[in-house]
Amino acid sequence: MIFNQFFDEVSSTYTYLLSSGKGREALIIDPVIEKTNEYILYLKKLDLKLVKVIDTHIHADHISGLKELNKQTGCALVMGEKTSSEVVNIKVKDNEKIKIESIELTSIYTPGHTDCSYSFFMKDRVFTGDTLLINGTGRTDFQTGNPIDQYHSLFERILKLPDHTSIYPAHDYNGNKVCTIGKQKKTNPRLQIKSPEQYAEVMNNLNLTDPKLMDVAVEANIKGLTFKEFAKLSK
Ligand code: FE
Repeated sequence: MIFNQFFDEVSSTYTYLLSSGKGREALIIDPVIEKTNEYILYLKKLDLKLVKVIDTHIHADHISGLKELNKQTGCALVMGEKTSSEVVNIKVKDNEKIKIESIELTSIYTPGHTDCSYSFFMKDRVFTGDTLLINGTGRTDFQTGNPIDQYHSLFERILKLPDHTSIYPAHDYNGNKVCTIGKQKKTNPRLQIKSPEQYAEVMNNLNLTDPKLMDVAVEANIKGLTFKEFAKLSK
């Protein structure tokens, strides 16, 4: 299997590329538009054909690379069925399979950070978007966030996966690349909590500032931007 973790320093976003290697088909999770060339060069170098791209949710802190990757490669665009995106052409339900060759991801509906947040599980790993971060959890105080929903998504879905499952989040601000469910259960301060109400209390008092790009990013990611449209927007 081919697996690569890309990092966008500006938004601290992790993007993932998966391929079985055999038929050269590839899938990307959470691409950042400014990094499109890096993904395309990587695909070319390894002789891979991008067939599917997934966003875990409508992002507020960066512009998604979905539409530009679709323009350049013709790949299908995938999100969970609760998304308000106007560009995706495959909307998956909770517990639905997404396949490329021998690789199979299972969608897990994990609302809380947004009401369209999904995680994607694959044998030994889970792509958690902004639901479970390493030593943290995604904020629930804007967009369509809800801390009680996130508590249930964490404790009844993500943390029920086997302890050895690797966690690959959409962001990390401290240089962590991967952790496991078992380790996070013990050490993640946000998970040392006894009830949904206690979790909501913590999440409602984080007093975070809004992401710099929020006003433009949410709307842009619902509509989807090509690189040209993005360049105009950033002038
Ligand atoms: Fe997010």
